[in-house]
Amino acid sequence: MSLKPAGPEEELAEMLQALGIPDAGRNRRSVPEAAELVSVGKDVYGREQRLAPPAALAWRKLQAAAESEGIVLQLVSAFRSWSYQKQIIERKLAAGQTMEKILRVSAVPGFSEHHTGRAIDVTTPDCKPLTEEFEQTPGFAWFVRHANDFGFSMTYPRNNNSGVIYEPWHWTFDELGIGTMTAPPTAASFPNPPEILSFGEVRLRFVRLVPGDESHGLVPQYHFRIVTAGDVDVGHINFRIGDTEHVRLCAGHIGFEITEAFRGHEFAFQACRAIAPFVRSFYETVTITSDPDNQASIRTIERLGASFIDEIPVPPHDPHYQRGSRSKKRYRWTP
Ligand SMILES: [Zn+2]
Repeated sequence: MSLKPAGPEEELAEMLQALGIPDAGRNRRSVPEAAELVSVGKDVYGREQRLAPPAALAWRKLQAAAESEGIVLQLVSAFRSWSYQKQIIERKLAAGQTMEKILRVSAVPGFSEHHTGRAIDVTTPDCKPLTEEFEQTPGFAWFVRHANDFGFSMTYPRNNNSGVIYEPWHWTFDELGIGTMTAPPTAASFPNPPEILSFGEVRLRFVRLVPGDESHGLVPQYHFRIVTAGDVDVGHINFRIGDTEHVRLCAGHIGFEITEAFRGHEFAFQACRAIAPFVRSFYETVTITSDPDNQASIRTIERLGASFIDEIPVPPHDPHYQRGSRSKKRYRWTP
């Protein structure tokens, strides 16, 4: 009888134990390593880099769009495995750095976004990689203006409260459906949203209709940026049209995210109220979901007056499972 292989959770716990940081995982959630990776070419050091397929596609499109405007963007790092992350920490420990100092710049294995295959470190020629210098480059300026449209957002803005230093170079892909182009929906079946959708301090800027991808259960979605008075972009809200298993069980019809620096101002609530008239033109009631530990999102949903349906496990084949979600609370909202 062969030994039962340890599961990823045990493997991770052992790794943290070996590094001397067994408590590092407390109050945080580890995310599985990317199951599938594809090449995105060479990085600035000539090493081959890989990303999860949807992130790879989005990155290639972003890079090409930048290049068409004369901006060269290069990868410094993309996918990194748990064990590679462990080696980075071991190397720094061996060089005499304290664990406390190391963890200000290097993530604990299992908690780095790089092992999801959805995070990238970016630079541009004539800039020292992984330094704040990047902020001064035309490449960074282009990135800030356009990255969101390709599904990338900055994880560690200045003064973020995650305990990690400001990293203008580190961006994460987090936009289900973007880049998975199939036949675009026709204008007739998907009308343009009203010119003005606003509520309280926010208005919605319609970016585009993102086509669905049937093979992954992804339905078309209207993608809006959430903008406050004074034109500050504070996040995004998506409205999905369709009723696949992915929508019913995991994604819900409405998805929103407020950039970390702008949380705590009820912008998500206001964005939902702003989109409500448009949602009503399609559905009488819609589903909104939340991870059970996302208190901010649950508060927003409750404040909207949505009623709790149930809490259900995320199917292992759903993209949300890949991103670390194991269960979802579901709510019914009459907009
Ligand atoms: Zn990074």
